[in-house]
Amino acid sequence: MPIKSLQRLHPEYRDIEILISRKVRNEGLPLVVYETKRSHKRQDELFARGSSKARGGQSPHNWGLAADRVLVPDSTFWAPKYRPKHPWDMGVDEDRTEIINPMVFEVWKQYGRLVRDAGARWGGLWKKPGQLIGWDPFHSQAHNWRKLKIRDGEWWNGVQ
Ligand SMILES: [Zn+2]
Repeated sequence: MPIKSLQRLHPEYRDIEILISRKVRNEGLPLVVYETKRSHKRQDELFARGSSKARGGQSPHNWGLAADRVLVPDSTFWAPKYRPKHPWDMGVDEDRTEIINPMVFEVWKQYGRLVRDAGARWGGLWKKPGQLIGWDPFHSQAHNWRKLKIRDGEWWNGVQ
């Protein structure tokens, strides 16, 4: 089961994610935290399943330096016609070159700006030329996560 608590995040990054959650609330975006800290064991399982390209220790989630948020499809926010199909809907086609659901797409765009304004990096920017959105719009992470994880290696150790 994914850990959803912001309190499990790295002490030097936690406040940024708390700020993101506050902004999400203030702007009324239908998003909810899905996962924050991820154990090395769970990371290895996701890798084995093909759900992630990172093994245990290779993802900022493993160090409490990233968070994922997903859509709330049954929120009253949505116009019935634009209700997302599932929490991971991006509002685009498979190639991410065409908008299928403009309301969903706009939520992710707004979320991306909000993540950037809060001082984190947004996974929705990781795209190829021609694509409208990156492959991981759910994801936000610390800009300097590789540095932070080394400096505070002691902190995470044992906190699986
Ligand atoms: Zn993530």
